[in-house]
Amino acid sequence: MDLLKERIMQEGRCFPGGILKVDSFVNHQMDPILMMDLAKEFVRLFKDIKYNKIVTIEASGIAPAIMVGYLTNLPVVFVKKKQPKTMEGMITSVVHSFTKDRDYTVCVSNSYLTPEDHVIFIDDFLANGNASKGVMDLCEKAGAKIEAMGFIIEKAFQHGGDFLRKEGIRYEALATVESLDDCKIVLK
Ligand code: 5GP
Repeated sequence: MDLLKERIMQEGRCFPGGILKVDSFVNHQMDPILMMDLAKEFVRLFKDIKYNKIVTIEASGIAPAIMVGYLTNLPVVFVKKKQPKTMEGMITSVVHSFTKDRDYTVCVSNSYLTPEDHVIFIDDFLANGNASKGVMDLCEKAGAKIEAMGFIIEKAFQHGGDFLRKEGIRYEALATVESLDDCKIVLK
């Protein structure tokens, strides 16, 4: 998506360890007009797929996911990073955070992820695929089927894409970063 690529080139900042900061329009301040355009693109890319639920993970996936839910009139479930005492039918998985370099337990209720569900997973970044792995695990435990995944930005120099291809999971990324070497953003 050219609009997204332009924003990344204009406003994106590189941080050591292969981290791209897009805080001015995705991860801190958000641009709802851009988010809606991104969501429209996800809906277009997934138009041949039958799905009944959008799943994302706290926190930055929520904005694009809810826009996709709005456009498709489908419910949006966000996987939580803290386990509420009140959650019924809790399913958990352990995810390694790339940006924080630590493991944390994520959870979802089996009231909202069920064997009837055909899921599109939406997130902001695909890096090493750990968040995706966690969501795949939750869906398997819940008996739900992942039909596809959509990421705003894929970092192709990390291995999430290889992992998803190996697992046979269809995914789409709206922009692909080839490299952040020498703190220079190179897009595909
Ligand atoms: P993965 O689980 O694929 O290794 O990493 C994806 C998750 O880590 C995303 O949910 C995202 O929040 C975070 N992440 C990974 N790489 C980056 C990055 O370069 N910049 C930002 N802002 N978040 C990232």
